[in-house]
Amino acid sequence: MGELLTIGAFAHHTRLSAKALRRYDDLGLLRPAHVDPFSGYRYYDPAQLDRARLIAWLRRIGMPLAAIGRVCTLPPPAAAREIREYWARVEAETAVRRDLATFLVDHLTGKDPTPMSTHETTLTVTYAAASDTGLVRETNQDTAYAGARLLAVADGFGGGGAGASAAAVAALKRLETTAPLPAGDLLNTLHDAVELANHEVAAHTGDRVGDPAGTHAGSGTTLTAMLWTGSQLALVHVGDSRAYLLRDGELLLITHDHTVVQAMVDDGRVTPEEAASHPQRALLLRALDGGTPPTADVRLRDAHPGDRYLLCSDGLHAAVAEDAVREVLTATAGDPDRAVRALVDLARAAGAPDNVACVVADVAA
Ligand code: MG
Repeated sequence: MGELLTIGAFAHHTRLSAKALRRYDDLGLLRPAHVDPFSGYRYYDPAQLDRARLIAWLRRIGMPLAAIGRVCTLPPPAAAREIREYWARVEAETAVRRDLATFLVDHLTGKDPTPMSTHETTLTVTYAAASDTGLVRETNQDTAYAGARLLAVADGFGGGGAGASAAAVAALKRLETTAPLPAGDLLNTLHDAVELANHEVAAHTGDRVGDPAGTHAGSGTTLTAMLWTGSQLALVHVGDSRAYLLRDGELLLITHDHTVVQAMVDDGRVTPEEAASHPQRALLLRALDGGTPPTADVRLRDAHPGDRYLLCSDGLHAAVAEDAVREVLTATAGDPDRAVRALVDLARAAGAPDNVACVVADVAA
């Protein structure tokens, strides 16, 4: 043990305040090497400087103290992994907040032609939905729905999967009959709708009445849906079904998969190419499983005349290359019925190892 440092000297060396050091002592994050039994003064060993500096740096990137406590007990490689994962989560959350901030700035500066409270421009949407069991599965647990104001796909899993995906879509369908909402209320309403959907999914999962054998345990569903309000659409998304936008001949993925493998891609631990064939690519980070309601990605987008939207389950996007999907969407322009049938055919031509659900919608002025 080197010569002990007073709390003032230790604070100076670590750029931590004496107040912060007392707090870290109380929390067990960083105990002083010695506390004077008479004065109560704290003394620190110079060997504790490294740990104190690590704590100070982790505070600067905003890591909560509980997580810092965990990182401090890990060997360096595991600590590095924990920090990388924390930062990937921060960036994902920031991306959602950035979209919301952009939306608010556009509205308040009048850049967006749609006022917050009324909808003067109304676009016409034509649409079609299709779902298919595929060539391998015995039952179809996917649900696809397209209506004048709502488009949705849900991919159920587990013994109660079919009921779960149908219940989730049914819960959202109730929004179709409510009056168009001002954009400001829409986001909250959609968050509420996801909670309701999750609540209704609970009837199809877990050890509920009518499932004494427990075959419905671990069941749930993904949910990717769009609700139209005049010239805007609200996108709600949980799980690994996807939404794409075909605009000016380009196919853009506009949702982010909530899967373990996607998180590893975000982290730089696997490449997108490796992810496509990763054995755990179907493992979901978020789903509607009737338990704690998951955080849904909810965002507003401006729709343009000429836009074509595709919602699909992984039975399409995991089985068929994006280029082939884009070609079919381009070749069937203006005919959503033909588009969904052609997409199901594509999946079947690729062996259709999973259920397929897809919805195509065309926007016109
Ligand atoms: Mg699936």
